[in-house]
Amino acid sequence: MKIAIATNNKNKLKEIRAVLGGHFDAMYSLEDLGIEIDIAETGSTLTENALIKARTIRDIAGIPALADDSGLMVDALDGAPGVYSARYAGEEHDDAKNNALLVKNLQGKDRTAHFCSVIALSYPDGKELTAEGRVEGHILDAPRGNNGFGYDPLFFCDEIGKTFAEANPDEKNSVSHRGRALRNMLELLENQQNEV
Ligand code: IMP
Repeated sequence: MKIAIATNNKNKLKEIRAVLGGHFDAMYSLEDLGIEIDIAETGSTLTENALIKARTIRDIAGIPALADDSGLMVDALDGAPGVYSARYAGEEHDDAKNNALLVKNLQGKDRTAHFCSVIALSYPDGKELTAEGRVEGHILDAPRGNNGFGYDPLFFCDEIGKTFAEANPDEKNSVSHRGRALRNMLELLENQQNEV
């Protein structure tokens, strides 16, 4: 089976291919398919947004499409920035401003947080699969490390004892929300294959 991956983010493509590549005959990025689109993420949950992206690309490409949506949830902020993680400080994907606002809003507050990711796969016949992954940690007062993106320098991961920006990509993927969601998706796909 051939599938489309609803992203142009090179890091995500690499991560998705590393986990699911063996399961499909071919995986095409939006660039491979010549699709240029900015999909409005109008859902109120990660699952809704992942499904919106997967369905949109499925309809354009006419083949099954896989999409992900992720966010950082901070307990003391009632789950914010959550689905608004990319545009917490206003502008889309301004990591420096998002991180600065997060530190400001957490002054004197509890730091417990988790990342969550939802992977959605949508088939042309209407069938859909979703899988979730989560990783626990807490938010530091100041950034640490140079790897990764987004909130990685502020997110201290309890399981590996360092921030995601201090971890190398393999270390991060082994515990990350997206890594876990992808491995859960692989399990769903393999179980489904066993059912047929
Ligand atoms: P996306 O939906 O996966 O593109 O993620 C939305 C936003 O959540 C990103 O722009 C980041 O701000 C944040 N985010 C998601 N995953 C991660 C991660 O692994 N590290 C740091 N920030 C992340």
